[in-house]
Amino acid sequence: MGSPTRVLARSLTGCAAARPKTSLNIIRHASAGVRFHEPDSQGFRHKQMPLLAKDPRQTVVILGSGWAGYNLFRHLDPQYYRCIVVSPRSYFVFTPLLASTAVGTLETRVVIESVRDKGLGWRKLSDVLDDMLKRKDIAMKRKSIKDNESSLPTVELVEAIATDINMKDKIVTVSPRIPDVDANETFDIKYDKLAIAVGCYSQTFNIKGVKEYAFFLKDVVDARRIRKRILERKCFEAANLFLMSQERKRELLHFCIVGGGPTGVEFAAELHDLINDDMQHYYPNLMPYVQITIFDVAKSILGTFDRSLSEYAEQHFRRHNIEIRTGVRVQEVTGHSLRIKNENGEDETVNYGLLVWSTGLAPNPFVAGCDVVVKDKRNNIVTDNCLNVYAKHANGDAVLNKDVFALGDCAQIEHGYLPATAQVASQKAKYLSKELNREAKSKGDEYKPFVFNNRGVMAYIGGWRAIVQGNGGEVKGRTAWLLWRGAYFSMSVSIKNKILIPIYWFTNWLFGRDISRF
Ligand SMILES: Cc1cc2nc3c(=O)[nH]c(=O)nc-3n(C[C@H](O)[C@H](O)[C@H](O)COP(=O)(O)OP(=O)(O)OC[C@H]3O[C@@H](n4cnc5c(N)ncnc54)[C@H](O)[C@@H]3O)c2cc1C
Repeated sequence: MGSPTRVLARSLTGCAAARPKTSLNIIRHASAGVRFHEPDSQGFRHKQMPLLAKDPRQTVVILGSGWAGYNLFRHLDPQYYRCIVVSPRSYFVFTPLLASTAVGTLETRVVIESVRDKGLGWRKLSDVLDDMLKRKDIAMKRKSIKDNESSLPTVELVEAIATDINMKDKIVTVSPRIPDVDANETFDIKYDKLAIAVGCYSQTFNIKGVKEYAFFLKDVVDARRIRKRILERKCFEAANLFLMSQERKRELLHFCIVGGGPTGVEFAAELHDLINDDMQHYYPNLMPYVQITIFDVAKSILGTFDRSLSEYAEQHFRRHNIEIRTGVRVQEVTGHSLRIKNENGEDETVNYGLLVWSTGLAPNPFVAGCDVVVKDKRNNIVTDNCLNVYAKHANGDAVLNKDVFALGDCAQIEHGYLPATAQVASQKAKYLSKELNREAKSKGDEYKPFVFNNRGVMAYIGGWRAIVQGNGGEVKGRTAWLLWRGAYFSMSVSIKNKILIPIYWFTNWLFGRDISRF
């Protein structure tokens, strides 16, 4: 079978030509194998994605390729499950290192993993080693595994977003997110099991101008945009122009971060490293004009950490001239300024060259609009402790659905609030894959409840220092930084990235970050 994307593209072209003017119950399009259904026939309302003939496995449709979705399909046994990943992104993003890529400490490539590759890039390396060592028996075995996999693919990616779920008929409707393919050409995918792992969006509190002018840090695309903005004509290059007044230089080189949680703090720290380690060599005359400011409505930053650690971070920032303005409420954002209610309750306008917005999570619009599952007040999907969702029935009853699961930032277990972190998302995903594999092997469907193993929290605060709050107590400074780097290095997925990440850390330390703009 060709790639699903290609199959989809072919199908859509074929369908458009074959679509009748009058409605028919079922039409089979010979070349593409795509069927059209009337809404009342088996529940299909759109074209149906073709299923592989003679595939005895159950189909697991996974919505999302983030921490939850990616870890789920990587650990599902392909012997028992055919995985279809529906996501607008063809890759997984290793978010803890995203701030590093926004300032060039790491290249964007090393924090993403291709969904299709499933993090198995090691195969090519081990193939070469086997050939070199002439271990023909192993090479033969590997070839036969590959042949099997090519007839029954382990994971299929559909670059699309889910728009609707029909739990009664086990159908999810998706809308393609591929250039030149009409997003209105929605189609249906039939599932045996469905995992909803679509994550959340960035919270803006509907503050005017945020969506238009602020930069978010959720994806590699955002990181690349931020990096370009810092280096381009809007910040350093513009400020360097001799025509600029001192006041204008100060505005252009004012880097504002709204949100003093771990993401905002880590970005401020990485930005400070970039300026301190590299930019000051290229633009020494501009250094007196550079300012980094973190704004937060709360009384202190890093509220998820113990006060002693957040105070340590605040002191470290103040020593490095990073301003922290707490008790400040942003009211409006324009293309070059923030209107705030300041610490004294007065209105104030703050000009900026770059504004990064990181004030928490807002529900994914798909989840917000999904009225077939039970949700809590924050619009998180509510699950039982085996991650099953509660289906809402027309009469108002909520019934546990054993074939639909929700995990990651978009879901919460009833009566047990857990933070929206990669740690929780990946643990839930690994738990679910284990239970599904066990169910397929033993045919029993009783799941053990999910138990979260809290491994603590950590944040980088710049200058090779970090804070770590774990089961073994609190660590701060250089030792914490080593723990921080060690933890994220070991959690990175593919062997390729495990090799590239330390190489970038080392070369950037030795030669400086790449500040070229393209
Ligand atoms: C910069 C940054 C740093 C972070 N650092 C840490 C850290 O150090 N430690 C930690 O524990 N956590 C960290 N987090 C939080 C962590 O990344 C999230 O908790 C985690 O990504 C949640 O995983 P998820 O799979 O639920 O959602 P996501 O990772 O956001 O993935 C959601 C997926 O769903 C897809 N999607 C969206 N809508 C649809 C749709 N309608 N249909 C289909 N697919 C859809 C998206 O494209 C994406 O692939 C960080 C987050 C950020 C942004």
